[in-house]
Amino acid sequence: MTQMHEILMRVFGFSDFRPGQEEIVQAVAGGEDVLAIMPTGGGKSLCYQLPALMGGGATLVISPLIALMRDQVRGLQAAGVAAGALTSGNTGEETDAVWRGLEDGSLRLLYMAPERLASGAMDRILREAGIARIAVDEAHCVSQWGHDFRPDYLRIGELRRALDVPLSAFTATADEETRAEIVERLFGGAAPRQFLRGFDRPNIHLAFAAKDGPRRQILDFAAARRGQPGIVYCGTRAKTESLAQALGQAGHAACAYHGGMEADQRRVVEGRFAREDGLVVCATVAFGMGVDKPDIRWVAHADLPKSIEGYYQEIGRAGRDGAPADTLTLFGPDDIRLRRTQIDEGLAPPERKGADHGRLNALLGLAEALGCRRVQLLAYFGEEATPCGNCDLCDKPPETFDATEAVRMALSAILRTDERFGAGHLIDILTGSATAKIKERNHDKLPTFGVGKGQDKRHWQAVFRQMMGRDLVRPDPERHGALRMTHAARPILRGEDRIDLRRDAMRRPEGPTPRAMVGEEDAPLLSALKAQRRALAEAQSVPAYVVFPDRTLIEMAERRPQSLDEMARISGIGAVKLERFGAAFLKVITGAGEEMHPARRKLAGKPQGALYDRLMEAQARLARGEDGTGKPLSCGSGTLRWIAERRPASLEELARAPGISTPKLDRFGPAFLDVLQDG
Ligand code: ADP
Ligand code: ZN
Repeated sequence: MTQMHEILMRVFGFSDFRPGQEEIVQAVAGGEDVLAIMPTGGGKSLCYQLPALMGGGATLVISPLIALMRDQVRGLQAAGVAAGALTSGNTGEETDAVWRGLEDGSLRLLYMAPERLASGAMDRILREAGIARIAVDEAHCVSQWGHDFRPDYLRIGELRRALDVPLSAFTATADEETRAEIVERLFGGAAPRQFLRGFDRPNIHLAFAAKDGPRRQILDFAAARRGQPGIVYCGTRAKTESLAQALGQAGHAACAYHGGMEADQRRVVEGRFAREDGLVVCATVAFGMGVDKPDIRWVAHADLPKSIEGYYQEIGRAGRDGAPADTLTLFGPDDIRLRRTQIDEGLAPPERKGADHGRLNALLGLAEALGCRRVQLLAYFGEEATPCGNCDLCDKPPETFDATEAVRMALSAILRTDERFGAGHLIDILTGSATAKIKERNHDKLPTFGVGKGQDKRHWQAVFRQMMGRDLVRPDPERHGALRMTHAARPILRGEDRIDLRRDAMRRPEGPTPRAMVGEEDAPLLSALKAQRRALAEAQSVPAYVVFPDRTLIEMAERRPQSLDEMARISGIGAVKLERFGAAFLKVITGAGEEMHPARRKLAGKPQGALYDRLMEAQARLARGEDGTGKPLSCGSGTLRWIAERRPASLEELARAPGISTPKLDRFGPAFLDVLQDG
């Protein structure tokens, strides 16, 4: 096993790298300049944390978010790593400990907020502190064109030159221009080694639903995931509050979050969300950057996001720990109208508006997709994929029907009324409802009046919504709500092209089928394990995932380790966490505590552990000698541990074990050597 794998296993408790991690860790540890673009949840932190434990000197980590840094430092400390942060939130004691660790060379990771770089003395201090490499998290913050620009990030390039050490930069969002800017500003234009990892997040289940009693849809979705942390993204501030209230009445722990709230109030919500196990936050997109909770189990959109990029980023907050996560995005004709109007009435130049309509179209195309959503989503980001088996359309392929005739009828109603009316009135025309407005305008005399009588209003609403989604018709920005035909619709109108639409979108959607995190028989154990985790987390006032991520608990519930040795094989349990938390969780699983001697516990999960057990057996067999009549003797566990670790090959070497007297050596020695030879 390489040193790299050994640390991965021992400190982080992972048996394998995630895709891409290994090459990046190797490059960073090898002292190369690196720019890595990995999707959220891809496991970027490990790519600089692990190399920090491989070489000499400390790694300086620059990250824009204080809450995130503190969580990472706590997580590392819980795994036995000497890590510290210099942030404005520090207590004097914490800061002192960091300086001490730097001075005596024990500190491996130093987290720092970019503002700290502004102090002139910092370069010198860091140079003296023996910083061996720099890692920059959220590297896109150096880009002035991005929305997360941090002026202090511009100082990082200077610092790199001053310290003359390799730098690795990490980000989840970087288009070509941003990438070029990162190279220019952080690496002084000298191209770093670049790693670009795919955008797929296979553990996130994708689903869309047309709005049909949207409040009930959200409440049902949340009810099926009660007790699991989730986010409901809302289009307006008012809706965050009303939905949070409705969820509260339905018995959820829920609160609202939006940009109009006082900063302290927002911080309270962020803090609660990080720490509590099952809080639901109803939020506007303002709730984002500061959220670094890896175990968000679901994200719902109560309203359609702004673009496909926004959608990807928002659902991407779920399931960063790699465990299953659920999403649901609601959309309706009003959303489409609102988003179109926002673009049209915005201040952007015309070519930008065109691009924005394109991004919205991509999202609507995804919403109205007829095949696997992931294939379509990844195609937008330039990746090819095969049907994923983890989206609503893979679960249940939609029924489609030839809608060419229906679409032609709808287009004809639009054109015959001079593109001046919205869907409601057009549907009245098609279904032949002689309302006052219809009669007033003589629309009951139109040849299209009543041609769609064979289908009900719901059917026609779905046709219009899908036509908007396919960008066959668009609301006219000049005439409020009126629909206009686009170029894309012409071939259908002229009979040169045909079109299929979804039929199931027109029926009431069935109740949501929550996908459980574990099978039915493991569910009670999982919740008991979660309760244990909550108790431990609360006792140390850290977020639950600092103890163990969901994934680890799920694996525990499914595999039910019966001993600390078996426990050590669960992903996410390194040596320190095993020592600290293993017994408490084992007790939950086996119902009884495994009273393991501390000396033995130190060997848990290692081959020496099994050896220790066999030595113990041999000793028990001979406790009263071969014939069972001798005076009882036994070696202490310290002695057995020494033997298991050193594996003496002869009686002479064995005699050097601490606490082994001549009578003990005589009685157990040969048997011990046998055990060692077999093992
Ligand atoms: P991001 O790329 O978004 O910064 P993180 O570094 O926070 O992602 O990692 C996301 C989650 O993935 C964390 O919970 C982390 O513990 C987990 N993780 C990282 N690497 C591995 C791995 N090799 N095996 C299993 N889980 C991993
Ligand atoms: Zn799919």
